[in-house]
Amino acid sequence: MERSTIVRVHEGLHARPATRFVKLAKAFESDVELVKDGKAVSAKSSVKLMLLAVKENQEVTVRANGADAIEAIEALIGYLENPKAGLDDDEAHAPANDAGKKAAPASQSAPAAPAEANGLRGVAASEGVAVGPAFAHFPPDIAGQGRMLQADEIAGEIDRFRAAVAAVQARMDRALAQDSLSAGERGIVAALRDIAADDSLTGEAEKAIKGGNDAVSAMITAASTIAADFSAVDDHYLNARADDVHAVGRQICLALLGQDDVSLENISQGAILIADDIGAWDLARAPLKRIGGVVCGHGGATSHIAIIARSHGIPAVLGLGDRINALRTAQEVALDGNTGQVIIDPDAATRADFASRVEAAAKERAGLAAFKTVTPKLADGKVIEVAANIGSLEEIEAAQEAGAMGVGLFRTELLFMRHMHLPSEDMQAETYAALAKAFAPYPVIVRTLDIGGDKPIAGIEFPDEENPFLGWRGIRMCLDRPDIFKRQLRALLRAAVHGNIKVMLPMVSDLGEVRQTRVLVDECAAELQAEGVPHATFDLGVMIETPAAVLIARALAKEVAFFSIGTNDLTQYIMAADRLNPTVAKLNDVTNPAVMSAIELTARAGVAAGIMVGMCGEAAGRPDLIPAFLEMGLTELSMSPASIQRAKKTITAMAAGE
Ligand code: PEP
Ligand code: MG
Repeated sequence: MERSTIVRVHEGLHARPATRFVKLAKAFESDVELVKDGKAVSAKSSVKLMLLAVKENQEVTVRANGADAIEAIEALIGYLENPKAGLDDDEAHAPANDAGKKAAPASQSAPAAPAEANGLRGVAASEGVAVGPAFAHFPPDIAGQGRMLQADEIAGEIDRFRAAVAAVQARMDRALAQDSLSAGERGIVAALRDIAADDSLTGEAEKAIKGGNDAVSAMITAASTIAADFSAVDDHYLNARADDVHAVGRQICLALLGQDDVSLENISQGAILIADDIGAWDLARAPLKRIGGVVCGHGGATSHIAIIARSHGIPAVLGLGDRINALRTAQEVALDGNTGQVIIDPDAATRADFASRVEAAAKERAGLAAFKTVTPKLADGKVIEVAANIGSLEEIEAAQEAGAMGVGLFRTELLFMRHMHLPSEDMQAETYAALAKAFAPYPVIVRTLDIGGDKPIAGIEFPDEENPFLGWRGIRMCLDRPDIFKRQLRALLRAAVHGNIKVMLPMVSDLGEVRQTRVLVDECAAELQAEGVPHATFDLGVMIETPAAVLIARALAKEVAFFSIGTNDLTQYIMAADRLNPTVAKLNDVTNPAVMSAIELTARAGVAAGIMVGMCGEAAGRPDLIPAFLEMGLTELSMSPASIQRAKKTITAMAAGE
């Protein structure tokens, strides 16, 4: 019995989803296989499953044979189509991919650059700066016995090997039973435990033992073979799994030798951990609070080390390759996790520079942290909503950590650009619903697709345009493509059942655009009603980012529930200065009186009509401008999560008359 489907698991079946899929498959008695491009593998082996390299939006077939085949297919297809269903809250809100909580900055995916005069440069994997004593962690390589076994030794060696595997699994089970593990760490240890329990790895080792190799040599060879398979796949998530296979292999070898790995227990407060590679297993047990920074030969932005470092706020530079050997004897190391710079034994001036940057950052962080839970109010008691601008579910945690009072701008473009096809209504509904649930009861303002010829996406043919910024983009394109627009509106109506969803239209320059959208929203609601699909209404607002919208703000305010001022585009259109062109950057200035007047006109029109006026352009996070915006009557400011606490502080100080 078999059924095919399109995989909707974000970024495909890499470590964590593969582990979950295997767990589901193992709950059934039937033999279950997953088939892709004619290749079938057991759905009960996460290593085999990962090596099948199933990507999001690919077609696969689930094949089952046994008494509970129907139930198995139902459950596994269900997972592939709707991976978030049935997860507990922790898992559902964990980062959707292994890359961590926030999208990696562009620099993180950049290959390591060559050495520089003042040190080394690697992959900037976790932001922040650090300077401290070096803690070199280069555990000795493990070697096998290097002799062939006699035939009568083989059975005993296999028993010894199985006992070592069982001991490693039991140790990982004990780690998983600890309450202290975060959801992310638990996922990582669970993925390692799965590799340790997988017969792809242990079976390969047993084959080598049967061939006469001692267990340690057999394990080393098997780990290299399986790791090489992972390295050969054209997918950076799966490449990072090669390190996990080596880490598991090493633990099994140590158990065979009756040795403990070199411990990180003795690392001193604020030390910089230097290693060729740190297995996720070691790192998950390391005293993370004491580690000042991490520098590694292996690893990249998607490796477990990067994930753990980012989630604990530890600056990290990874991927130095063999150049890590230059740090083996370092006494002191300075690193910049934003740029990837590593300085060995910095001179006094460099050390002082790094130390003052570390101190300033810590002081600012500590001072601002108190504002996370503050609800900023003006002197008259009016609450100002300080919300987050985000573009993916991975950023939810960073926004919540910062104390965001909802989302003031969810840019939906990434959802469309990340995929090879236009995202389905179901996938969109699931994304928007996850967002609404995460922030309820605070509002989540989702901006409808804002894309034009400068950022083409698969599935939409854009014409060649002389000037795409003045062309077929945003609401203009959406209204011309109701097939795309209605799919998004239907998804938003469905998601509105799950929280406080509001919707805003980008690039509005004419009242007709709002009216036409309303007709489409009503049409979508009527369709969903007729289909019996649960849905709810939402507030409809507009972005004010064209001069035309400013000039018709009074009329617009009568037709919409809120304004959100997009100062990035508004500035470029008011000043006729391309926001991407450095030669006119001086003109592209939000503080120019022309732009500030446009903002004030908008605010006045909104306040007079009694609707909410907010701002989601970059200027919303500027402490020097926030007082002026609030005096104009704005009551919502949406910004990148990193600016939230500072903005709350500014508003609080303003209310106190400081
Ligand atoms: C803006 O234009 O101010 C805005 C928030 O939208 P974007 O930067 O996505 O164009
Ligand atoms: Mg804009």
